Amino acid sequence: MNILFLGAPGCGKGTQSKMLIKEYGIPQISTGDLLRSEISSKSELGNQLKDIISQGKFVNDEIVLELVSKKINSPECKKGFILDGFPRNLSQAKSLDKLLNTINIQIKYVFFIDVPSELLIKRCVGRITCDTCGRIENEYFSDFKEGDKCGDGVFVKRADDNEKTVTNRLKVYTEQTEPIIDYYKEKNILHTIIGGEGPATELTNQIFDILS
Ligand code: ADP
Repeated sequence: MNILFLGAPGCGKGTQSKMLIKEYGIPQISTGDLLRSEISSKSELGNQLKDIISQGKFVNDEIVLELVSKKINSPECKKGFILDGFPRNLSQAKSLDKLLNTINIQIKYVFFIDVPSELLIKRCVGRITCDTCGRIENEYFSDFKEGDKCGDGVFVKRADDNEKTVTNRLKVYTEQTEPIIDYYKEKNILHTIIGGEGPATELTNQIFDILS
């Protein structure tokens, strides 16, 4: 089962991926998480990535492709995977097809989560994530705030979730990522998940219905 999530920053790709991990036990490949962990490692590459990501720009295609390729070819992805945040432009979508062709596998489902654009800024700017279990909450829509405890962890905010960077990320999304929706529509594997502004569980139910 190979699944891909498409949608703007803050649409809920990460939240839905986590629901699927629980249900199907297949790993999530989030290029954002992979890049952030490279930054945390304080490597030379990590330091270069930090600047690019804090401006809301895309990281070079080759770097991202290398990270994804390593993961897809690893034993943990044998039974399938959930791609979140990749591909993000047409060139990455084509590179992914090439990569999958060489190992004879295909993406079976592409879920596009449609969320009204006016909500996306609040979703990102208010987003807080537990630094230990990865639980995602929002300061605008829940009682949790940055710095609050979550079990053994603490809720933290991503460095690129400020209004200026989010606005740029949304602009780049419209220009570069939106066109790949049609790419997958033409392949007949695109499923649009509607009501993205509603509760996460309703979206999960739509996704489970399609998968079953
Ligand atoms: P979001 O979907 O909320 O924007 P991500 O965690 O997926 O957040 O990505 C954070 C940042 O990491 C992006 O703004 C971009 O700078 C970089 N990034 C993630 N995935 C890719 C990718 N496939 N290609 C280029 N840059 C990427």
